[in-house]
Amino acid sequence: MEQQLNAYYFDTYLFEADATVIAAGHDDGGEPWIAVSPNIFHPRGGGQMEDSGTVDGREVAVGRLDDGLVVLTGAGKPAVGSMVRTAVDADTRLLHAALHTAGHLLGFLGEERGWRHRGHSHFPGQARLDFHPESVAEDLVAAQARELVVGGIQERLDALVATKAPVTSSLDEDGVRTVVIAGVSAEACGGTHVRDLGALRGARVLDAKVKRGALKVRYEATHD
Ligand SMILES: [Zn+2]
Repeated sequence: MEQQLNAYYFDTYLFEADATVIAAGHDDGGEPWIAVSPNIFHPRGGGQMEDSGTVDGREVAVGRLDDGLVVLTGAGKPAVGSMVRTAVDADTRLLHAALHTAGHLLGFLGEERGWRHRGHSHFPGQARLDFHPESVAEDLVAAQARELVVGGIQERLDALVATKAPVTSSLDEDGVRTVVIAGVSAEACGGTHVRDLGALRGARVLDAKVKRGALKVRYEATHD
């Protein structure tokens, strides 16, 4: 099988591409899937929701096999070796990239306070960073104290967005991808990101609450 090139690694803003069908099969439910290259579809993973999009105008669902191959169901049964026209929904892609990038910033801002990152979700409407509560020195019980902490993080977040720092990525020989937000962080990551922090709009910390054994910092963000 031809190697699948994951184009979303290199360009968040590549919304359409002609691609070759490099593999085909059936899922457990008997639904046919195809894999294409270059592949512009980000599958669900790393706390980020999968892209939506089309193959030759037909809506597809994006999944990933255990070996990492990104597969598309709903495209019918185009033959291996044939060319297809692929497209991701641009609005969804941009929203996911904005939420994901803002998540990196909030992880950094929490760690800046000494909080230890425990988990995260970048799903629209439920985006949050989780931290280990025992690493949090601040008082988060009283509403007023919480507001102070949220306000402090928001101030730092606004300052980071205002730097318009570029977001770049590189792939090493072993296929490990490193995402660098200039002046902020360098992390192994497979998600999609905005081109620079100036593309973020309405990046906002909603609250910071200890719930079910984690400090949950909820946030929202969109793309310009
Ligand atoms: Zn990332």
